[in-house]
Order: sequence, then C-alpha cells, then structure tokens
Amino acid sequence: MSFSAEQFKKQFPLFAQEENANLVYLDNAATTQKPLPVINAVRDYYMHSSANTHRSSHRLARRSTDMVEQVRDKAKQFVSAASTREIIFCRGATEALNLLAHCLCCELQPGDEIVISTAEHHANIVPWQMAAARHNLTLRYVPHIAGIPQFDQLEEVLNERTRVVSLTGGSNAIGLRPDLSVIRQLLRRMQVLWIVDGAQLAAHEKIDVQKIGCDFFVCSAHKFYGPSGVGFLYGREALLQSMPPWHGGGEMIAEVEFQQSRYADLPHKFEAGTSPLAALAGLGAALDFLARQDRTAMVEHEQRLTRWLHRELSASPNFRLISQERHNLGIVAFVPIHGSAADLMHWLDERDIAVRVGHHCAQLLGQTSGHQVTVRASVAAYNTDSDIQAFLQALDEYCEVQQLVGSGQESASNRW
Ligand code: PMP
Repeated sequence: MSFSAEQFKKQFPLFAQEENANLVYLDNAATTQKPLPVINAVRDYYMHSSANTHRSSHRLARRSTDMVEQVRDKAKQFVSAASTREIIFCRGATEALNLLAHCLCCELQPGDEIVISTAEHHANIVPWQMAAARHNLTLRYVPHIAGIPQFDQLEEVLNERTRVVSLTGGSNAIGLRPDLSVIRQLLRRMQVLWIVDGAQLAAHEKIDVQKIGCDFFVCSAHKFYGPSGVGFLYGREALLQSMPPWHGGGEMIAEVEFQQSRYADLPHKFEAGTSPLAALAGLGAALDFLARQDRTAMVEHEQRLTRWLHRELSASPNFRLISQERHNLGIVAFVPIHGSAADLMHWLDERDIAVRVGHHCAQLLGQTSGHQVTVRASVAAYNTDSDIQAFLQALDEYCEVQQLVGSGQESASNRW
C-alpha cells in the first residue's frame, strides 16, 4: 500500500480551516495535530457519556468505566503489554517519569546509582535529580562526545550500585534514536531496571515492549495524534506490584481505616483521583486511528522528508546542522550562520511556517554540544513534499536577505 501524505492530512480538520490554508506545521515533536475521530471522541464523551467512573453504577457511570477499560486494552495492544494491569494512565510522559522516580527511588539505599544521558528531555532528568537529592543517590551519565551520548559505551557507567537506567527512546531535540537492542544487550546480565522514555518514539515506531525488553515505557498521547493531558506508563506487572503507590486518594484504595489504608489492585493502585476521562476517550480514538494506518508506510514517508531536510541543510553554507541524518526519528536541528535562530523563527512564522526555537527542554545537550539555541523542524506523516519545499524556500529567502543586510558574523545569540 502506498502512502499519500495529502490524503492522510485530510483527516486533520485544523488544516482545512481557512486561516490555516498555507500553514506548514513542522513543530510535531512539541505536539501533533488531531484527526477528526479524536476530536469527535472527546466531544462525544461530553455530549453522550459524561459521568465519573467506578464510583457509582448508574448507566452513564458504567459506560464511562467501560470506556476507560477498553482504552486500557487498546493501550495494552499498542505497546504489546502482557496484561491491562501493566497499563497505568497518567497525564503523560512527565508524570509517568515522576511516578517512577518517586516510587523506585524511595526503595533505594544511599549511594545507589541511576544512569541517564545528556540527550534526555528535562522530564527524564529533573525527577531523578530530585529523587537523588532526597535519597542520597548518585546520578551518572552515559559517556558522550560533544553532548551526543555513546549508548554503546553504557557499560562504562554501570557497576554493582546501578539500580535504574532511564534513557530516551528518541531525542526530542536532535531526533537521535538509540539502538535499543544494543542497550538491551548491555543490560542483559545486570540487575537493573530499564526505563524507556518513549514520548517521541511512540509516534514513529510500532512499539513492542516485549521485543524492546524494557521494564518500563512511558508515552504521551498528544505526540501521536491524541489529546493533551493524557498518556500512560507501561510497567512489568511484578515490578508494579512490588512498588509502593504514588499519589493517595480516591480510586486507588481497597479499604481506608483510621491510621492506614489497603490499596487497590493494579492498575488502579497508581491512578488516584478522577482520570482525564474525555482525554482518555480521545486516546482510545487515537490508538484506533493509528491501528488503521499503514505504520510502515508512514515512517518511510517521514524518513524520506527527514533525509531530504538533512541533505539540503548539510549542503548549505548558510546553516550549521546539529542533528544527524542517521538513526533520526524525524527531527532536523540547525542554526543559521547569519542572523539568529530567534530571528529565523520569526521570519518563518510570518510565512506561516511553524518550527520551534530554543533549548527544547534539553539544556544538558545544549550545554555539552555548545548549541544551546537551535531551530528545530520536526515532521509528522501529514507533512507533504510541498511543506518541505515551502520551508526550504523560506530558508533560502531568509539567507538572501541576511546576506543583503551583510551581517557577516554568526550571531552570538545562537551560542547563549
Ligand atoms: N520526553 C520527551 C523525549 C519529550 O519529547 C517530551 C515532550 N516534549 C517529554 C518527555 C514530556 O512529555 P509531556 O510534556 O507530554 O509529559
């Protein structure tokens, strides 16, 4: 089956709005647009099914409860988990990583070690720093060359005190995808817990946690055409079973006494309070939507656009390319030689081309690579060839104008 980005794009109502007729949306690593079935599912939930779950047993409450458990089953299939007890709904990757940092680290001993990398999103750095400070743990980083983690050298930072290895499945700042089979191989004989931050990866690859071999996997629905404010944590059942709960409150208890409580079984033990029910309905629709697509063809299309962008930018004397074409999940990061990244973003914005400029919540990568502010264009399957042409043409025009005004120096602001 051949993939048509033009046809695929038609399923996303935002692009059909008159004001977006010329929009070139290349900020997909920040969040993706939503297809009609997802928008309808959120709307339909409020129109027809709005009621809280579990607490009562009237018709609408039962419908809501069934909906949540059906979405859990879809999420289980989406990542090939063994059981729905292994799927914990949460607000997204950030919340899932905070949950893991809290619940895993409170069981560790002072001096135990956690391994992360310079390419992590802040969501996979800061929770570990907070937990390390609280429990006197040591944070170690995968060896890197100019900021780029050398995942095949992971062994150098592993030792008998290593307890948790929490690494990206794909960097949101430079698109780098580690070879997860190499990481699996290196961790094979170690008694460590392996977490994959799949926030970016889940949009670009069919996930199979059995094949990956990780203990935990986190993702956010809004990165793969679902609503914001919802995501999930996959965890091996035995591990989730042995972990203490995180938030306390309604829904996560079996019995409450004066001095203590008994907790609910998995997965509810980790789902205190009312879930984002409409967003969960949207997540279910996004998972159905993805299940109907030819994911291989989508990825091939995204990869072709990503290679095209890298080829053009690496050949241009006007840009310094920061991302690499190889093992890239669809992100090109670069800085203009003339002018500043921020100026370039405004130039593009005036032409209705949406890219991101900044540190992309990956300041460690910026500090270690020397490029703290970059322009990031990130593709999704609805990006067309004409999107890429429009983007490249706008870059050319920007360079022509910069050369005319004669700002011959690389802007200091690219090196903040
Ligand atoms: N990890 C990565 C690699 C990400 O790209 C993001 C979002 N940019 C997150 C974690 C956090 O995701 P969220 O903000 O949806 O919780």
